[in-house]
Amino acid sequence: MGDCNIELKIFKQISTWAKQYDQWAQVRKMHPVLINDSHVCTNCETEYQGRFCPQCGLKASISRLKVKNLFQNFLDIWGLGSRPMFRTLGELFTRPGYMIREYLSGHQPLYFPPFKMLVVTTVIYLLAGWVRDVPIDGLIQLDAILDGMTGDASERGMKLRNYLNTIFAWFDDHLAIGVIVGQSISVLATRIAYRKAEVKWTLVELFFAHIYLAVQYYVIAMACILLFKAELDELPAWGVLSLVILIYQWLTLAQLYNMGFWKSLVKSIFKALWQFVITVGLTVLVVISVMVI
Ligand SMILES: [Zn+2]
Repeated sequence: MGDCNIELKIFKQISTWAKQYDQWAQVRKMHPVLINDSHVCTNCETEYQGRFCPQCGLKASISRLKVKNLFQNFLDIWGLGSRPMFRTLGELFTRPGYMIREYLSGHQPLYFPPFKMLVVTTVIYLLAGWVRDVPIDGLIQLDAILDGMTGDASERGMKLRNYLNTIFAWFDDHLAIGVIVGQSISVLATRIAYRKAEVKWTLVELFFAHIYLAVQYYVIAMACILLFKAELDELPAWGVLSLVILIYQWLTLAQLYNMGFWKSLVKSIFKALWQFVITVGLTVLVVISVMVI
């Protein structure tokens, strides 16, 4: 009996922590600052109040160029200077769904834009592979899967195998297009699995959300490479990676759709199933159309 009580207490404690976390996560961390100082624009000479010229958009605080500007300009080349990349990255791992909701509902200037962020993190991810001497040649080790599938070395099986290899090799070579196609399928699967949720997101809005999810993925994958110095399909790295990514996707979608954790878990399992079905369906379609041509 005593043990049972202890388990109950632990469960209660965890659910209290979960609630406390959720209350903390819902609150926006950054608020736009309104300033009513009067200025004359140094560019177009308009008189105005606020931080930016309403006519040409120049900053009110513009002054002579300093070392700070030099540094800022240098970072701008990489798309890092203008917006707070590190805060966005931090929130992407502490309150991902709520952050994305704020981005989608008009707080864009507070966050680093998703596509820019994807490019930057992809580059850093590839660099991490280079630094740790881990070859990054696509995420799917197709040969292993195909060996199981087409065990018989019949002419037909070999032909199918070649077609599939060509398709996946093309996506490996065109990483960006691969990511976009992969994300589109993921977006569609999310839309189908969460179609009955109270909060509605359009496919375009979901696409932006999924680009942030891709950033999450690359950051976790990069941490895996740096920590385990392992190829992604090697255990334990792959197991840990998949689990962490699944948990983060689940958490993100729960927050994005304002849904309870357990309900969202069921939906995200359905999402994964839909994603699998759509991917297989599309692959079959492409193979058939290539074979016909
Ligand atoms: Zn102006």
